[in-house]
Amino acid sequence: MGKVYLVGAGPGDPELLTVKAARLLAQAGIVFHDSLVSGEILRLVNRDAEVIDVGKRCGHKLLTQEEINSLLVSAAAKNEVVIRLKGGDPLIFGRAGEEIEALRNASVDFEIVPGITAALGAAAAAGISLTDRRAVSQIVISTFSRGTEGASMDWGAITSTTTLALYMPGPDYAEVAHRLREGGLPEDLPCVIVSNATGAEQQIRWTNLARLATEEKLPAPALMIVGRVASQRVQEISKAFWRNEANERIVPRNAAVS
Ligand code: SAH
Repeated sequence: MGKVYLVGAGPGDPELLTVKAARLLAQAGIVFHDSLVSGEILRLVNRDAEVIDVGKRCGHKLLTQEEINSLLVSAAAKNEVVIRLKGGDPLIFGRAGEEIEALRNASVDFEIVPGITAALGAAAAAGISLTDRRAVSQIVISTFSRGTEGASMDWGAITSTTTLALYMPGPDYAEVAHRLREGGLPEDLPCVIVSNATGAEQQIRWTNLARLATEEKLPAPALMIVGRVASQRVQEISKAFWRNEANERIVPRNAAVS
């Protein structure tokens, strides 16, 4: 019986792989990867290994999650090193929970090798301190564009002292803007959109809630960082506060900040 490694490939730049991930890729007997994983990273895979793309393309799933789960279990019977390679970190929007459960149920040995999740890659690319003490006290990692049962996003958790890392924002920025407004957030709330963070095609767009709806759409994969920290003038933005009586949350006053 082999072992299954759930490995994070990081956000794009192959140099951001962990040393452990690179070593395991070189030792792999078989690799199941998502479509987010770049060709540059796949080139590090052992030449004799079987490499299978189990990712989603154009909304068409190549394989169902159940099929992937059973492939991992059966591969462990034939290979010493089985790798399930995912973009970013396997434990952030990576469906690792289902795979871990299937492996546990089948008594297959497994190990998780963390990767740099897209939010951290995007923050690094933009030079944003996600927990800047002058501005915020919490980070919320979230998405709203998943058809999850009973797990829809709690926009009420996004206060003025929150940094929101919004994964899979989709192309409908107006929808995101609408929901942030509904949550009582002000028009000058900074927002950064980072596309292909740390990769060759990286793009960064600095905007705010007022302009978000009409911003030009950046190509996927893209992520939004929303909050006072998502600005190049954090100190200035942090000085402005007002209390929103309606929901008793502290939100920044509409100061003209871009
Ligand atoms: N497990 C991954 C997330 C998978 S969900 C991780 O930890 O990063 C896929 C979403 O991640 C994309 O829709 C996008 O929002 C984000 N993402 C992944 N790679 C990205 C990148 N290089 N730049 C910006 N966003 C990225």
